Amino acid sequence: MNPFGKLSLERKSEITLKDVIMKKSHVAPCSIPVGCPVCTIIPSHMLRHLSRHGPAALREKAWQTLQHSERLRGQRDVLAGLGAGRWGVSPGSKRRTIYDLSHDTVLPGKRVRGEGDAKSRDVHVNEAYDHSGVTADFFRQVFGRNSVDDQGMRLDSSVHYYTDFDNAFWNGAQMVYGDGDGVVFQRFTKCLDIIGHELTHGVTQYEAGLAYQGQSGALNESFSDVFGSMVKQWKKKQTVAGADWWIGEGLFARGVRGDALRSLKAPGTAYDDPQIGRDPQPAHMRDYVKGGADHGGVHTNSGIPNHAFYLVATALGGHSWEKAGKIWYDTLCAVLRPHATFADAARGTLRSAGILYGSASREQDAVKSAWQQVGVL
Ligand SMILES: [Zn+2]
Repeated sequence: MNPFGKLSLERKSEITLKDVIMKKSHVAPCSIPVGCPVCTIIPSHMLRHLSRHGPAALREKAWQTLQHSERLRGQRDVLAGLGAGRWGVSPGSKRRTIYDLSHDTVLPGKRVRGEGDAKSRDVHVNEAYDHSGVTADFFRQVFGRNSVDDQGMRLDSSVHYYTDFDNAFWNGAQMVYGDGDGVVFQRFTKCLDIIGHELTHGVTQYEAGLAYQGQSGALNESFSDVFGSMVKQWKKKQTVAGADWWIGEGLFARGVRGDALRSLKAPGTAYDDPQIGRDPQPAHMRDYVKGGADHGGVHTNSGIPNHAFYLVATALGGHSWEKAGKIWYDTLCAVLRPHATFADAARGTLRSAGILYGSASREQDAVKSAWQQVGVL
């Protein structure tokens, strides 16, 4: 079954030649496919562990989620070329639409809530609506960005994907959320930072277009974690000292030994549980994980640039989005190219810090020190 067949037909009818030209001129610095192939929040290593060591009833489900996630890969680049309704919405207005799949996989599903509509009785629908709205507000108010593509792109989300699906993903055109199995993972609409993470994959797709493999893929993941964490801190008005720096805190069901999916403050310490294994993220280049699984460890090695951002933000103090966030955003939008390495990101953030705050400024020194501490410079 092609879960995107219906979506593709609908989107195609909305595409104009102008859309195609704008899309090409905006995101195609070279001819390789940009961005990530269906960017999921749960890495394959965690699902694999769950399928081998989880409770018997969950093993099969975890395996199905893993298989299904793998099947989705490769379909994203087709969707990215279609866009998701670029209707030139003015800055500040949002166009959120939430669809209910009722455990089907044919996107987008039945429309259940549009922009400005009354609350649903379904918490999944309301969380998808509210959290995507907060994320859009964050990008607009902090960075002056008009939606994911900076041109007022619609924010479409589908909930209740498949059955007990242990994942959430950005497919290049919209957000999709599983319900979770209820034993290890709760519903994937629950966490604001997860929704911020996934929508940032869209921003990256339209900006640096970081290829989802190896170091550029780990940077793609890291930018999503960094901005996902910042969205949560911004919403809660937290300083760098008051923030928890977790990604996906509250996603695990009761009884799972773990605080969250990842930690920017202390990569490698987010969870240690017999069912899902141990957080494998390194915080330093000496522990860089080599190997082909998970697109060359994109969810693992992202711990290194994640920690670099944490170090810069905490060295500068105050709110993470005010200085460190602006340096990272400028680098994502104006500097990095699809095959960027960690060293490119280090040099790029140094350059952005110099442009924004001056050469040899306190901000630029903080950036240099952070990349040195994680072993990239
Ligand atoms: Zn991701």
